[in-house]
Amino acid sequence: MKSYEKLLLENKAWALEKVQEDPDFFRRLANLQTPEFLWIGCSDSRVPANEITGTQPGEIFVHRNVANMVVHTDLNLLTVLDYAVTHLKVQHIIVCGHYGCGGVKAAMTHHNMGIINKWLRNIKDVYRFHRELVDAVTDEEAKTDLMVELNVREQVMNLAKTSIIQKAWKSDNRPNLHGWVYGLKDGIIKPVCEMPARTPLDDIYEYDDL
Ligand code: ZN
Repeated sequence: MKSYEKLLLENKAWALEKVQEDPDFFRRLANLQTPEFLWIGCSDSRVPANEITGTQPGEIFVHRNVANMVVHTDLNLLTVLDYAVTHLKVQHIIVCGHYGCGGVKAAMTHHNMGIINKWLRNIKDVYRFHRELVDAVTDEEAKTDLMVELNVREQVMNLAKTSIIQKAWKSDNRPNLHGWVYGLKDGIIKPVCEMPARTPLDDIYEYDDL
């Protein structure tokens, strides 16, 4: 059997198991999607949103990219964000990074990675904002882990800077924003920051006429 054929076989077994547990499972999900959470995570194959949070299909709306970035020119991210906030009306948005993130590590080097440079440059900016703090750490692994945490904080801030979030904060008093970091070594998620709805921002980022 080819490797990808095994995936299709596993899928059949999974679907059967779900129906045996709950005969209405797929019928219910096919008719309605009302997730409470938007997850913005890293594409890393070791950080699957549903599995590490024990959630089922239908519970989390998911966007993943390299190093869980919120880039304001990323049409893909903005579309997911607007749909989740404005239409699905999610209550919480979780930006979840992970220790040992390859994207963050690569951004801290001078390697020329072609088109990937343009994405990683956003992480280099995070380093530039927090250079003194990061440079005070000498251990390479600890330095990456600190950068992972700072990056998550900055991406949560980037969410709050969007008119999409500010509008929902003003009209609905939601969503709450959360920054988390997952540990590849122990499987535990550490919360690192939180921005409840209507948290005041640096004034320059705030929009009127929302
Ligand atoms: Zn990663």
